[in-house]
Amino acid sequence: MPHDDFAPGSVWLVGAGPGDPELLTMKAVRLIEAADIVFTDALVGPAILALIPPHAEQVSVGKRSGRHSKDQGAIDALLVAAAAAGKRVVRLKGGDPSLFGRAAEEIAALRAAGHPVDVCPGITAASAAAASAGLSLSLRGVARDVRFVTAHSQRGEALDLDWDALAKAGTTLAFYMGRSAADAISRELIAAGMAADTPVLIVCDVSLPSEKQLTTRLDLLGLATRALADKAPTLILVGEAMRQLTRAEIREPIGSKARADL
Ligand code: SAH
Repeated sequence: MPHDDFAPGSVWLVGAGPGDPELLTMKAVRLIEAADIVFTDALVGPAILALIPPHAEQVSVGKRSGRHSKDQGAIDALLVAAAAAGKRVVRLKGGDPSLFGRAAEEIAALRAAGHPVDVCPGITAASAAAASAGLSLSLRGVARDVRFVTAHSQRGEALDLDWDALAKAGTTLAFYMGRSAADAISRELIAAGMAADTPVLIVCDVSLPSEKQLTTRLDLLGLATRALADKAPTLILVGEAMRQLTRAEIREPIGSKARADL
């Protein structure tokens, strides 16, 4: 079926999912294949970049914590310039563009400059981690609340989060960008009343061949994160719903992925 939703001079923010190209939506693949230019994030891996057609220009504007290769204003300006040049522009973002992806700034900059912009959702890291571990983020009678939390802070600053609210019973917490804040997350949640033995799942490189998972408890979160995560993107899931794992999974690891217990 022909599509007329990608005119020259328009922009799609496209969710690339967690890394496995099979976790792209069909729409994402179609948009990537139709693009004249694709701006990519550091989190978008090689298997997905390989889908960018040879005729399309590929521009990496990746940011990794602490090493901002381009600031957000510069990225906005590049997107606007590409749209103004009449190109079909794809802005490829890890996971889902609406979660911790600076989508709002890019949408605002493009709209302000008069360029059409749309969003194609993607599978966010927390969903992919739950799927990979074979567990449910919400759990009847245990977790009726699921929070997506960014644990990113400016270098050296304390995390500015409402720990009392996060520590409430019946919640599953998905911490993004939490690797360097793991000690603080553990300390603050316990200080706010969360049990020290609350189960935790740490997952690096979700959905990639290099994926690693580690099951631990809240008071060991800092130690466990250091043991597992080096530079890989790391998602931390905290909450009683993770007991689904501590009961069943260690005896029978899923697939061939590295799985450990600490
Ligand atoms: N928009 C993205 C999140 C961007 S913030 C999404 O929806 O997933 C970047 C953080 O996302 C990383 O620091 C990490 O916490 C998490 N993340 C993204 N991809 C990941 C992956 N493949 N494995 C583990 N964590 C991932």
